[in-house]
Amino acid sequence: MSNDFTTLETLFAAAHTGPGGSVTPPIVQTSLFTFGSYAEFENRMAGLSDDPLYTRVQNPTVSAFEDMMAKAEGGEAAVGFASGMGAISATVLAFVKPGDRIACVEHVYPDAYRLFERMLRPFGVDITYHPVAEFEDNPDLLRGAALAYLESPTSVMLQAMNLPKVASHARKAGVLTMIDNSWATPVFQRPIELGIDIVVHSASKYIGGHSDTVAGVVIASKANIGHIRDLTLPLLGAKLAPFEAFLLLRGLRTLPIRMRQHQAAANLFVDRLSALPQVRRVNSPGANSVPGLGGRSGLLSIEFDETVDIRKLAEGLSLFRLGVSWGGFESLILPAGISLAQSMPFNSMQRFGVPRTLVRLSLGLENEQDLWADFQTALEKSAA
Ligand SMILES: *Cc1c(COP(=O)(O)O)cnc(C)c1O
Repeated sequence: MSNDFTTLETLFAAAHTGPGGSVTPPIVQTSLFTFGSYAEFENRMAGLSDDPLYTRVQNPTVSAFEDMMAKAEGGEAAVGFASGMGAISATVLAFVKPGDRIACVEHVYPDAYRLFERMLRPFGVDITYHPVAEFEDNPDLLRGAALAYLESPTSVMLQAMNLPKVASHARKAGVLTMIDNSWATPVFQRPIELGIDIVVHSASKYIGGHSDTVAGVVIASKANIGHIRDLTLPLLGAKLAPFEAFLLLRGLRTLPIRMRQHQAAANLFVDRLSALPQVRRVNSPGANSVPGLGGRSGLLSIEFDETVDIRKLAEGLSLFRLGVSWGGFESLILPAGISLAQSMPFNSMQRFGVPRTLVRLSLGLENEQDLWADFQTALEKSAA
């Protein structure tokens, strides 16, 4: 582990040393950086220094966020992006070329699926999709692939994967591995320590945590981040803005305590939901349900039986709002089986199937007993 801290709480709470002893970094709102002398300019152009030059590629506020994320995930380096999709597309495009194959997990985030099917396939990249168990038990599926694209747990169905096992298959097959770690965050899962090469996040979710920022970040080795910085960051240009980086740093300060509260709410819900007759299944991987997973985040999904009217349930809630996204302070309900799997065209959930009665909850930071009371009341009034 390349970290010089003992806990994430302590890493994230470390004060910056800004101008005049300020504890937060300045928002360096500039497009370019000029040079004090011709010699400094010459050195920078020759690659002999890495002084910031232009904010599309480098900015001190953005670097402060990137440095913290690299340490948090136990990686050597990190690069920020304007969105999670900016991070995902820049990473995949940096490492995949026409004729290559991506081995991807089923129920992948719907826009990652659209990137693969609508943009990469027409450019001559092949993508094969495999269930979690197949990734674990059939190392042959990786043979000849350029990249394994993973989520653990997967989107909406929230199926967790044995990452050390899959990482070891990939190492043997010489396949680069990449995982979307937005659900667990480094607080609950540190994939690089489990053998995965590249971690991406939609920082719009738990890392930002306040539903006020869209951003992404990639963490990996110096060489892999260097390749992204050299190629897809500057040439596709989806850079992270200084103000967004400032908000993300502020989000990180409280990430561990927020995740603890999300977990407390999720533990309560899993416990109570599992005892209800109208619940067929609760998808919510908890601590140690797979090797290396240290906790349960606040995003879970529930498959009801046919006695529950999903519309009545959603309309009966008062503390949960209806919407996409997740990972903020506010609680949300998404009728995923109806909206993603049936109405929204061209997406992974439709292709790989989601039960019609599946509902996704993002449990926020409200008191967990209040949330449960609200949910129970709405459920009682939701009989079909
Ligand atoms: C939201 C999300 C993304 C995309 O992130 P944006 O910041 O919205 O671009 C990627 N992966 C997962 C799992 C997500 O939930």
